[in-house]
Amino acid sequence: MNYDVAKNLHDVLGNLPEGVRLVAVSKFHPNEYLQAAYDEGQRIFGESHEQELKLKQETLPKDIKWHFIGHLQTNKVKYIAPYIDMVEAVDSLKLLKEINKQAAKHDRVIKVLLELHIAQEATKYGLTPDACRQLLAEGEWRELHNVQICGIMMMASNTDDEQQIRKEFMETADFFDEVKAEYFADDDAFCERSWGMSHDYKIAVECRSTMVRVGTTIFGPRVY
Ligand SMILES: *Cc1c(COP(=O)(O)O)cnc(C)c1O
Repeated sequence: MNYDVAKNLHDVLGNLPEGVRLVAVSKFHPNEYLQAAYDEGQRIFGESHEQELKLKQETLPKDIKWHFIGHLQTNKVKYIAPYIDMVEAVDSLKLLKEINKQAAKHDRVIKVLLELHIAQEATKYGLTPDACRQLLAEGEWRELHNVQICGIMMMASNTDDEQQIRKEFMETADFFDEVKAEYFADDDAFCERSWGMSHDYKIAVECRSTMVRVGTTIFGPRVY
């Protein structure tokens, strides 16, 4: 192994305040890297490709909680529905309904986050705040009993401008509060704010993140 996964993992964990959980983003890294993190107690792993995830899920320990963190195509949902713990980046009602349908087939409830698009880049996926408001206002999600909406996920702009990143995180935190008050005030499960990656997770935890998704800092650069 080229990277001291155990040491890097503990360094990251040491930077997380109480109540903030780590999603170890293991996409494009081999099983031995994941196993090394698992052996140190890490149980939540983030992946973004269905086929790669399938191979890992079949061979690695069964008590791993797999988070799908990338853009998920609706036609791929059926493959991960039997085992996925959380789909972090739901950005349409269509996808939400498909996850619900496939989860029902396996008699499961799949946790999801709504992905908010705040960043300046046009390429990023996600719901604009208004699109997210509209999705919730329309109310069809209330009938979907095999998905549990647990909070909001977002990616900040890919920039070195710390002020900009902070602004985007805080805007998302405010949006979380708005949605929480309006739709989920009595729902304790709606509690997750997933933001922060390798280059900005320390800022994220200062901006009310409850879940950071860190890959490179733990496992090294990805080999595509
Ligand atoms: C790859 C990825 C990450 C992790 O990025 P690093 O810079 O390697 O920490 C986090 N979130 C999402 C959505 C990703 O696709």
